[in-house]
Amino acid sequence: MGIASEILRIAEGEAKKEGAGRIASMTLVIGRWSGVEPETLRFALEVVSKETLMENCEVKIDFREPTFICADCEREFTAENRLDPCPHCGSYAGEMTAGDEMEISTLEVE
Ligand SMILES: [Zn+2]
Repeated sequence: MGIASEILRIAEGEAKKEGAGRIASMTLVIGRWSGVEPETLRFALEVVSKETLMENCEVKIDFREPTFICADCEREFTAENRLDPCPHCGSYAGEMTAGDEMEISTLEVE
């Protein structure tokens, strides 16, 4: 519920700034390793958005797999585990670029 309330607070703040009457839709970027379960969050959002500007808002979820850039061969790869080596060159110097985020990427108000 904490995350859902936080999203509602941010979205309502943006909507008020725009002078909007309601929030029509939003897209959330959720990484597999963010610790957020998309369907649980979707349900929590429905609950907290009752009688707010966000009521009946369409929530789209952009789910991201963990993605790394190899510091040695500079190629991108996805991994199941933080300790997996680069599948292209076997290096362990991968730097995570996506997969643990939890943010609002788009917000449509009207
Ligand atoms: Zn590599």
